[in-house]
Amino acid sequence: MIPEIEKASIEAIKAFQEEKLKELLHYLNKNSSYYQGVFQERGIDINTVQTIEDLAQIPVTTKDQLQQYNDDFICVPKNKIIDYVTTSGTLGEPVTFALTDNDLERLAYNEAISFACAGVGQNDVMQLMTTMDRRFMAGLAYFLGARKLGSGIIRVGSGIPELQWDSIKKFKPTYLICVPSFLLKLIEFAQQHNIDLSQSGVEGAICIGEPIKNQDFSLNILASKIKSSWDIELYSTYASTEMSTAFNECEHHNGGHHHPELIIVEILDDNDNAAIQGEIGELVITTLGVEAMPLLRFKTGDMVKAHNEACKCGRNTLRLGPVEGRKKQMIKYKGTTLYPPAMYNVLNHFSEVDAFVIEIYHNELGTDEILIKIAAKNVSETLLTEIKDHIRAKLRVLPRIEFCDKKDLNALRFPAMSRKPIELIDRRE
Ligand SMILES: [Zn+2]
Repeated sequence: MIPEIEKASIEAIKAFQEEKLKELLHYLNKNSSYYQGVFQERGIDINTVQTIEDLAQIPVTTKDQLQQYNDDFICVPKNKIIDYVTTSGTLGEPVTFALTDNDLERLAYNEAISFACAGVGQNDVMQLMTTMDRRFMAGLAYFLGARKLGSGIIRVGSGIPELQWDSIKKFKPTYLICVPSFLLKLIEFAQQHNIDLSQSGVEGAICIGEPIKNQDFSLNILASKIKSSWDIELYSTYASTEMSTAFNECEHHNGGHHHPELIIVEILDDNDNAAIQGEIGELVITTLGVEAMPLLRFKTGDMVKAHNEACKCGRNTLRLGPVEGRKKQMIKYKGTTLYPPAMYNVLNHFSEVDAFVIEIYHNELGTDEILIKIAAKNVSETLLTEIKDHIRAKLRVLPRIEFCDKKDLNALRFPAMSRKPIELIDRRE
């Protein structure tokens, strides 16, 4: 199930995308109060934007703008909106994503062709190890994609290795959809409970949220560790709510394939000019076929490299390498993207909290870990529980929290030469 356009020549793909781009610009000009404003303010005549290169005439859209003018991006009346999704924003408050019925259909198509790219077919059963609720998009997208593709799907949700194994034994899934570091938890549980991994029936895993590859497509530390205990095929997938599109690896495992009918890809340098071909740059996307909240030249903040040579699978679309890094301070934690200001907001909510420092570091697998050090008045289990509950409610994940002596914490917060207190210590790299 390879869409015809993905097998077309690079020139034909480009021409196809340029037609879609023109449609999008007219749609935005008619329905998006945010982009109407941009076109007017900058004196942009959309009819002069004919090619992908012409996109450079249009300013990029940042995450801050998306947050600040959130409602202005919505192109449909409220009664057309079916699903509401939120993502954590750069400025603390969540960003809303609205989806119409057509958007859900587009999302289903996207996941169906992405699963198919990883070899999933109608005879396969997938076990979904990520949440479908809490206003996340991903879990729902996977379910819709499986349904459209005609493969089975077991919605176990995140965590609970015992329940996952119970489900694997009972329903014999051939694919798992999970955060790859969770596979290590499954392996550990299996080893402790005499479960024979080689007899699991699982053939592959669609790995979300964390990279499993180095830039040369060799397995990274995390993936090698998984494969050394459990030799299943690992397929990386890269997606985000804003893109509403996935870049999935095919069986040749050399980057996530671009679906030209769903999204336009640009890789930009630090000055928002096209990066030199083959260089790492920031991924900037333009969504195609989105009805409620289409995005034009949206800066994802993710640093990636594009690969343009044809793939052995028959697709001629470009492929994205693993996300090399995040612009600035983006933290990928348990499959969720987090920003320090969102954590500051949550902690500042508590009057009992005197001071805090957030430490970001890489664990031995090279994925991000967060340690929140807190100095508080009247330290108690009750306070800790309250803080944890609030963090879970606001951020939907729970980093490690440690109470500290105020004097020790201040030593961290006020290093020599620093005039302002430091709230974030980024030890990654
Ligand atoms: Zn391929």
